[in-house]
This record gives sequence, C-alpha cells and structure tokens, in this order.
Amino acid sequence: MAVRTTQLVRVGRRELELSNLEKNLYPSGFTKAQIIDYYTRIAPVILPHLRRRGVTIKRYPRGTNERVFFEKECPAFHPPWVKTDSVPRQLTEGDINYCMINDVASLVWVINLDAIELHVPLARTSDWDRPREMVFDLDPGEPATLLDCCRLGLRFRDVLLNLGLRSFPKTSGGKGLHVYVPLNTPGVTFDDTKQFAHAVAKIFEKQEPRHIVSNMKKSLRKGKVFVDWSQNDRTKTTVCAYSLRAKGKPTVSTPVTWKEIEHAAEAGETSGLTFEAGEVLSRVKRIADLFAPVLNLKQKLPA
Ligand code: ATP
Ligand code: MN
Repeated sequence: MAVRTTQLVRVGRRELELSNLEKNLYPSGFTKAQIIDYYTRIAPVILPHLRRRGVTIKRYPRGTNERVFFEKECPAFHPPWVKTDSVPRQLTEGDINYCMINDVASLVWVINLDAIELHVPLARTSDWDRPREMVFDLDPGEPATLLDCCRLGLRFRDVLLNLGLRSFPKTSGGKGLHVYVPLNTPGVTFDDTKQFAHAVAKIFEKQEPRHIVSNMKKSLRKGKVFVDWSQNDRTKTTVCAYSLRAKGKPTVSTPVTWKEIEHAAEAGETSGLTFEAGEVLSRVKRIADLFAPVLNLKQKLPA
C-alpha cells in the first residue's frame, strides 16, 4: 500500500504541508522534492512572468510518462491566501476561476499538486482581451529540428527589427523555439496581433515554401518549420518562461540570447540550447532574467 508522507514547511508567512517529496517523477530521476526546490529557487525570475495571469497547470501525479491532468480552474480546496481571479469563458457561459501565482508560497502550493508545467496566456486576467506580447511558436516537423527553428528565428529577428520591433527568444524545453515580441501598450487586441503574426508567417512561407509552413495541418509540416501564429489568441497559452517541461529529463523553457542562437546556427549544432533545471539556476545567477524586457518594453505594431 502506498503511504502518503507529508512534511510541514514554512514559506515566508505561510505554513504548507508538502506531500510525497521522495516520489520520483522523471524517467531520468528527478523527485518531487527537487521539482519544488527548483521552483523555489527560480521564483524570483519566474514570478514576474506568472503574476496577474491565469495559470494553466499540468499535473503529473504518477510521473511525466503517465497521465497528465490539465487544469485551468483553481482547485476548490486551495487555501484562502492563494488568490484566484476569473475570466469569462469563450465558448460557454460562465467564468474560469484561475489560481493566481503572485508569490512564492502560492507557487509552492501549486507545484505540490504534482504540477510540473505552468502555462500562461498572453494577457493578464484584468485585461484578458488585451495581449501584452505577441508570440511566434516555431515548431519543427520531422526531420526538421531545433536547428531549422534557430535559422528561421534569426530571420524573424531581422525582419521584426526592420519593422522597429525587438524580439526575444526562448527554447520551449521541448522541440522548438518561441519568439516573443513585447508590446505592453494599451489598446492592442488579439485581432491585431493574430493578423500581424499570420501576415508575417505567410510572407516567410511564400519566400521558402519548401522549408516553412503557416498552415496548421500536421500533414503539411513534414521536414518544415511550422510558424504557429494562431497562438495569439485569448484562449491559448504558452509554456511560461522558466517552467519545467514534463519530458524524460527536467528540461526548462529557457530564455536565450540571439547570440546563442547565432552560435548554434553557425555551428550547425543545438546541444548547447537544451537546459535542465540545475543549469538554468546557474545561468540565472550569472545573467539574470533575459526575458525581463518582455514584461516592460513598450513597442507598437506597425500600422
Ligand atoms: P514544442 O517546442 O515541443 O512544440 P511547445 O510548448 O511549443 O513545445 P506546442 O505543442 O507547440 O508545444 O504548443 C504551444 C503551446 O500551446 C504550449 O506551450 C501550451 O501552452 C499550449 N498547448 C499545446 N498543446 C495544448 C493542448 N493540448 N491543450 C492546451 N494547450 C496546449
Ligand atoms: Mn511549439
């Protein structure tokens, strides 16, 4: 019979009961204690990216190889100090009542639910129809790889710069690359960002139809990079910067510099762009949060 072990810990002003800390949740060996430890240490840089956004959590009670529980609604048994905020549903009546991860204690409480991945929308709950940033999700269709995404990403950087927009890349911690364009200007809508992202994706596709595709259909993706522009929607989420991924190893969606992407593209080799929890913690000590500008750089989409 499985015995549930618990441990009381203090996080700031809060006392939390953590459970089954010794449970291994990754095939490569990474326990729940290590997951909670990672999130506690990464808190100073991940929290700004979680704050004021409704978090979708992916829970893996039996490990990353087993069934995932995908939750938007904050569990009813949350303690009163874990704040919630609601956003109207798109397709049905009613609201989604999200957990708000605004402080370390709330973060640890959520992670203790066997949550491994944290996903966020592009808008805050208070302005759920106003994107703070635009995203291009570059997905390699086999045999295309992250290397192809890097090469294309650099072209995105240049085209966007020509339009007066700085962009910021992060690895997904999975197969591809995410390119963020901070906006942080009032008035911009998801219609604006989605149309703009779609137009850019179609221009790239037209230039290189053998390597780039802007159509969602999985069958069209083989050997190409799919530029997912449709993520720019109020109902969509993207994995949060610094979130762990539930893979074979504890990889992290990691902000990187364009220089690092250039180096990988020049070397024809992307092994330097896979980061696990420990490496991310030492990177952040060294170079702080490369994604900080995504939260505050104000930019305007060209007309
Ligand atoms: P990869 O680089 O391997 O593609 P990814 O995180 O970009 O990793 P995608 O499948 O491209 O994964 O999806 C992009 C984002 O869309 C995810 O980060 C996630 O937030 C969201 N997403 C993906 N699949 C689902 C799903 N089935 N339900 C809800 N949201 C999803
Ligand atoms: Mn992707």
